[in-house]
Amino acid sequence: MIMLEEARDLLKRVYGYDSFRQGQEDIIAAITGGSDTLAILPTGGGKSVCYQIPAMLLAGTTIVVSPLISLMKDQVDALRRVGVPAAFLNSSLGAAEYREVLRAALNGEYKLLYVAPERLDAPMFGELSERMRIPLIAIDEAHCVSQWGHDFRPSYRQLAGWITRMEDRPLVAAFTATATPEVSRDIADMLALRDPSIFINGFARENLSLSVVSGADKKRFLTRFLQERPDQSGIIYAATRKETEAVHAELLRQGIPAGKYHGGLGDEERADAQEKFRFDETRVMVATNAFGMGIDKPNVRFVLHWQMPGDLESYYQEAGRAGRDGEESECLLLFEPQDVQIQRFLIEQGAGDDGRKSVQLSKLYSMMNYARTERCLQQFIVDYFGEKGVQPCGKCANCLDKSERLDMTSEAQKALSCVGRMKGRFGVAMAAKVLKGSRDKKIIQFGLDRLSTYGLMREWPEKEVSDWLYWLVAEGYLRMSEGQYPTVSLTAEALPVLEGSKTVVRRKITTVRKAAQSGGGESSPLFEALRDWRRAAAAREGVPPFMLFFDATLRELAAARPSSMDELMSVKGIGAAKAGKYGEELLAITSGAAADLSGEPDLFSRGGGAQPPSGSARRTGDAASGGAGSHTATYDLFAAGKDVEEIAQERGLSRVTVENHLMRCADEGAELDWSRIIPEEQEPLILEAVQRLGGDKLRPLKDALPPEVDYFAIHGVLRKHGISKS
Ligand code: ADP
Ligand code: ZN
Repeated sequence: MIMLEEARDLLKRVYGYDSFRQGQEDIIAAITGGSDTLAILPTGGGKSVCYQIPAMLLAGTTIVVSPLISLMKDQVDALRRVGVPAAFLNSSLGAAEYREVLRAALNGEYKLLYVAPERLDAPMFGELSERMRIPLIAIDEAHCVSQWGHDFRPSYRQLAGWITRMEDRPLVAAFTATATPEVSRDIADMLALRDPSIFINGFARENLSLSVVSGADKKRFLTRFLQERPDQSGIIYAATRKETEAVHAELLRQGIPAGKYHGGLGDEERADAQEKFRFDETRVMVATNAFGMGIDKPNVRFVLHWQMPGDLESYYQEAGRAGRDGEESECLLLFEPQDVQIQRFLIEQGAGDDGRKSVQLSKLYSMMNYARTERCLQQFIVDYFGEKGVQPCGKCANCLDKSERLDMTSEAQKALSCVGRMKGRFGVAMAAKVLKGSRDKKIIQFGLDRLSTYGLMREWPEKEVSDWLYWLVAEGYLRMSEGQYPTVSLTAEALPVLEGSKTVVRRKITTVRKAAQSGGGESSPLFEALRDWRRAAAAREGVPPFMLFFDATLRELAAARPSSMDELMSVKGIGAAKAGKYGEELLAITSGAAADLSGEPDLFSRGGGAQPPSGSARRTGDAASGGAGSHTATYDLFAAGKDVEEIAQERGLSRVTVENHLMRCADEGAELDWSRIIPEEQEPLILEAVQRLGGDKLRPLKDALPPEVDYFAIHGVLRKHGISKS
């Protein structure tokens, strides 16, 4: 108790603050009360006070372990200014300085000694611990000790070993901003914390408004965003150096004072950019994630992520650099579903063992779920970090969203009961197949076709069934296991839905669906109506839609709006046979007799979200041939195992034409064996290039890739991953 009064007194005297922030007081009380402690506080939450005040109160020298050299210097300077003797040992010291600090430390002259673990070896640590009086070891950025964290450092692990083997071990207090419950447990284990007091606090940042912007034209969005905030300072995080350069150049072009920061720039250039930003000479900083460690600019009004980071820890740490002064600030994430696919692919192909990969993958899925959730975004994050009982924030994009909701309870019940019956032994893809009523070999083999939920959603396209399952994961009704082959199972949230005591609503969204739609190009109500008709007609015949007409033909039809057979036959792609077979139905639509068919635009767009289908089945990937055309003939030959060269010879066509045929078939939903189009070793290269340069144009991609990568493979990758349109 006395201690706490003293603590409050120190807070005022040393730091000039009147009151503790949420959590600080409890943490200080636990430490000074003699308990090992694990404190999880968000960036900017005020961790340093939590160990500096105990250090001042306890007799002896507190050791602070930190990986951040610049931060150490700042903190030591700040402490010295207020009369607290402190020093650091890290690689920025010259040999003489180093010896001097060590001497003074052994002499007990400091209250706090900061050390970078990579500067310590076992004998030195032994000497320090034997000759100094150390009441407390505070470990900052403690997640670095965990292999499950996002920033594992072997030197931390080593130090942890020494600490746990110390005779008469001091108190240990571990601090981090970014620990999921698994990482917390791992930290406690690795540091061998003794019955630690655990605090998870303050993750909700009341002054931050979070939002996710899906599928936007990023450049245009950014221009408008900055125009609307003419005086505000902010950070734009981009995934790569190249993209950082491009966004930076674009801002300069628009006359916005902007700086850039990434690992490809020299030290001086970076320091200069950082200073200019700090002093508001530049308004916007465009940077990779190399920027931010140790910067403490209070008036950052927004942090905009040009691309989705690989995990929520990184996202929230970076986003959290907004509003450190407590003023209202914004955090935006620009989200493209394709980013997930690329990142997933890169993880799968990347180095590292399977355990590591599966951790990265499940982190990626959580990040994706954040981008897709309809829950309060603040709550989602806080939950992720294991803090309980935080109410919806009332200011994030989802809390403010007023769009219409659809009651999806019955669809949710179907999906959830199916997953329940599969007993957590299968993944999302299998669950989707069961709901779809697929005759897949594995389904039959496992007897899953005998489940009562088999085929419950057979009228939905399989892809949309699996999107629907992912939505249920994002909303917390389902959970995916970690691991390379994640299985899906029910959460406690699912039970009230299954019992019928909770309804599930889904937002109706009206943004344009990108890439996910076959064919792409602008659509119109008439085009949509034609597509609906095609889907139904193809289902009747049991052939894929592209066998009837290609999108291009439908688009021409929609533009020409023929009202007679003659007009109809003048549309490219419609010969006498097709006109005879389908003419009347088509004319009924195009001449306006069926104008009401054009209702129900595609409203479900978030990352290709599930769309309640219009009652007609769509069969994809069915190679059965119906009406034959030039493209389908090519497709049939390809499906029969002929390669492009052979098909070109056989049909007297050019290679390029054959390739184009295949791509058009893919657009229409035909399944292609991509491995025959994209050489395996080229796929990661191409994806990496797409990640850097975008997928809008082929030429820059071709130029950036080795000469043996041909256009066909690039094209194929874009289609396979749903990245671009025709
Ligand atoms: P962290 O290490 O958790 O990212 P810091 O310890 O650097 O955060 O603290 C972030 C900022 O909050 C610093 O400017 C610090 O002085 C300030 N701060 C810490 N505690 C308080 C408090 N009780 N009242 C007001 N400001 C505080
Ligand atoms: Zn909210």
